[in-house]
Amino acid sequence: MTLPILALLPLVLAGCATSSREDAAPAAKGREPVSVVLFISDGASFETWNLAGYWARGQRDGAPWSGWPVRLGMTTFPLNTSRTPTMNATPMVRYDPALAWSTESAAPDQTPQRPAFPGEPTRLYPSPFAGYQWLKKDYTDSAAAGTALATGVKTYNNAISVDNFGKALGLVTEAAKRAGMATGVVSSVPFSHATPAVFGANNLVRDNYHEIARDMLRRDRLDVVIGAGHPLFDDNGRPRATPDFTFIGPDEWNALRAGGIGGTFVETTADIRAIADGRRAVEGRLIALPQVGSTLQFRRDARVAGEDRRNPSGTAFTQGLPDLPTLTRAALNRLGQNERGFFLRVEGGAVDWAAHANDTGRIIEEQLDFEAAVAATIDWLRARGRLGRTMIIVLTDHGNGLPLGPDSDRIVWQPVTNRGKGRLPEVRWHSGTHTNENTRLWATGAGSQCLLNFVVGVDPGLRDIVRHNDGRYIDNTAIEPVVRAALEGAPCPRPATR
Ligand SMILES: [Zn+2]
Repeated sequence: MTLPILALLPLVLAGCATSSREDAAPAAKGREPVSVVLFISDGASFETWNLAGYWARGQRDGAPWSGWPVRLGMTTFPLNTSRTPTMNATPMVRYDPALAWSTESAAPDQTPQRPAFPGEPTRLYPSPFAGYQWLKKDYTDSAAAGTALATGVKTYNNAISVDNFGKALGLVTEAAKRAGMATGVVSSVPFSHATPAVFGANNLVRDNYHEIARDMLRRDRLDVVIGAGHPLFDDNGRPRATPDFTFIGPDEWNALRAGGIGGTFVETTADIRAIADGRRAVEGRLIALPQVGSTLQFRRDARVAGEDRRNPSGTAFTQGLPDLPTLTRAALNRLGQNERGFFLRVEGGAVDWAAHANDTGRIIEEQLDFEAAVAATIDWLRARGRLGRTMIIVLTDHGNGLPLGPDSDRIVWQPVTNRGKGRLPEVRWHSGTHTNENTRLWATGAGSQCLLNFVVGVDPGLRDIVRHNDGRYIDNTAIEPVVRAALEGAPCPRPATR
């Protein structure tokens, strides 16, 4: 009698050990936790997505996300358009498909728009249709839009992951860390700019770059911080005579360089490439600031960079700088060390800057760099057998510039003209700043179908004018709960009932 029981004991214990280990993991309650890569092409109006395809492939399709199974619209409006907290939870702005897509003629808009960059002219955008004019009002800024993506909460324009009472919000990156995941942000604009910032900082004012940089570099939310904004180099990648401490304060910078922040800090292209190519392993936190000013390439000066007719802008790229796919692969190599998984947010930040400047050639360059970063991520995941355990979302935080066809001042909603591969599409820009458009979103991988639980309506314009999908759309507050549930291995979330 005794012997069989003893013989069974190891099996019973092994069984107990297995089940208790599984019970301890959130997966036992729902699904397997999955990694998430969130790609943000900052400030991409609906036709912006097509511009790069027309130039690169002669067609709008063929981007890495073109065939993905989840294709939705996403509204981006903020809680209100105040620049400071207004101490209430009352929504003051909205999206309305009927007004957004109005084809009614309207008196030309005579509001001059301030230039996006010094030296550029003030512009008028007559936008002689009611729909265009409606989309140009009550738009979000990147801070409120990013806060919605990072926290699931709508707030005022200017807020870095604080609500409309000024209270710090919980971040999806914090949820990822609690779930044992690694976290990171990558951008082609300064790392402390609003859209990366909302994933690592809380601040009442988006321009408080020094405080935001300190939050991002010192608080235990981000294992990887990679972006532009190097204080010692200019926009052409040349050493500055005097440092520019706009995007990181001198104290933080000195601590970073002296190793006082911990982890690994790299800035040379050789070092960044070594990490991206897997030739150099990284312990602890990875902070990488390529040796360039405010953007990787967008702000380069044609007089310095010289001509290159092969590029959409006709201007050569600044040589010797890493591109967005290289920065992304560096992030993946560090985050991928975590067997449990990771949350990575990659941003084509300068797409937005090029939209502000109405620069068709350079927005195509920035969007193609963004496309390449998505493709590189898919290759990286596939090579490691991790594609099936990763949700990938491609979206924008808001429209910007409203590029349409060359005669769209007379022909309402005329699309951009595709002039074939290697030729600039014909474009008329209708704004020098953000819009309140219903934006385009694609998703694939484990858990991406959960986004469908959050559909709030059908927008005929997305279906018939944009030709994006069947018109279904979600709001930008849907991203955070779906991403968080994926990271935690929790069941598909449902919208909170009001
Ligand atoms: Zn933005």
